[in-house]
Amino acid sequence: MKTIAVLGSTGSIGRQTLDVLRAHPELGRVGALAAHGNAELLLAQAREFHPAFVGIADEAAAAALRPYLPAGTRLAVGNEAASEAAALPEVDTVVNGVSGFAGTEPLLAALAAGKTVALANKESIVCAHKLVDEALRHGGRIVPVDSEQSAIFQCLSGGSYGEVARLWLTASGGPFRTFSKEQLRTVTAADALRHPTWNMGAKITIDSATLFNKGLEIMEASYLFGIDGARISVLVHPESIVHSMVEFCDASVLAQLSRPDMRLAIHYALTWPERAPSTFGALNLAEAGRLTFEAPDEERFPSIPLAYAALQEGELLPIAYNAANEAAVARFRAGEIGFFDVFRTVEYAMAHMPHGTIRTFADILETDREARSLAEKAMEKKS
Ligand code: NDP
Ligand code: MG
Repeated sequence: MKTIAVLGSTGSIGRQTLDVLRAHPELGRVGALAAHGNAELLLAQAREFHPAFVGIADEAAAAALRPYLPAGTRLAVGNEAASEAAALPEVDTVVNGVSGFAGTEPLLAALAAGKTVALANKESIVCAHKLVDEALRHGGRIVPVDSEQSAIFQCLSGGSYGEVARLWLTASGGPFRTFSKEQLRTVTAADALRHPTWNMGAKITIDSATLFNKGLEIMEASYLFGIDGARISVLVHPESIVHSMVEFCDASVLAQLSRPDMRLAIHYALTWPERAPSTFGALNLAEAGRLTFEAPDEERFPSIPLAYAALQEGELLPIAYNAANEAAVARFRAGEIGFFDVFRTVEYAMAHMPHGTIRTFADILETDREARSLAEKAMEKKS
């Protein structure tokens, strides 16, 4: 029986991971839970799953939680708590469902401790890719949870690495797929939060509307599978049923299909290297009817070309791309900047980053900080 740490347990991925474990208790027991500040839900989860360890980043929330935790549950408080959960000796598998850059240190901590990481948090691999190969020497591994990467991971078993010609990442296109540039000028965060096919946390939902999510996934795919940017393409597929594809050198393309339900990808990551029956609903293609595909519009969504540029530089720019986007998404959600300001902010931060090399986690932190401050400067200029 595996022992599983669920990082970001109160979020969309975390809650769905617990759904999977509730429906399939044979997959493992919950050894640790970690969240940022949602004490109420974290407490309910701790009472249900009885983990030995609970971590919470926010101190005020910790005070509300402490008196009510079940006996035998240890509480850790602060930003390090998720990393501590990730490295606990009794934990075999870490589900990284933390949102944003905060997932980076827990990924490295889990790998340094030799754990299997079921990775939903894409920002971490984008920011820490220079350190991941070294971290993997401790015997850990990464099994992707992000649906596109899970699809590619599954399709790759249909051929050898040397036979791969191209990765095709599918994208729903988000709520603004058919909007003109004129319409995009006035869209709000509330509009962006109405995603047509997936129900996810707020940050990734905004990223799906700007296609920064796909930009991050271009880099994530490159780092997870060792394929350069020139051999990664994006295809808009509004039905979100084909989760991604691998084209092989003989021009055969393998695709992975399922209903758009993250519990399927989480379930696969937890049963891998085997498959096991799941209870999350079979795909009915006759009911789905038509599956459509179109090329992404890089003019309306410059997040895509910016991602290829960041990937090509491969040192500071992937971190800057992510950091500036996180800063801009926060301001867009607050109604302080417009839709196109998000792209302009990231472009500005990337253009003004110095040259450099990432060697340590401190370099990553420093680069993240610098890019956020450039992003703030870019946004000050506009408002
Ligand atoms: P949510 O915003 O729904 O949840 C984020 C979780 O992270 C919450 O539990 C939050 O805690 C926790 N958290 C935030 N900061 C910290 C911290 N410093 N320490 C510990 N926990 C922290 O996000 P999602 O679940 O949507 O996304 C999580 C990750 O998975 C993202 O990287 C996203 O890109 C990726 N992903 C998500 C998909 C989805 O369907 N949701 C699909 C594919 C990838 P609290 O609630 O207490 O604030
Ligand atoms: Mg995805």
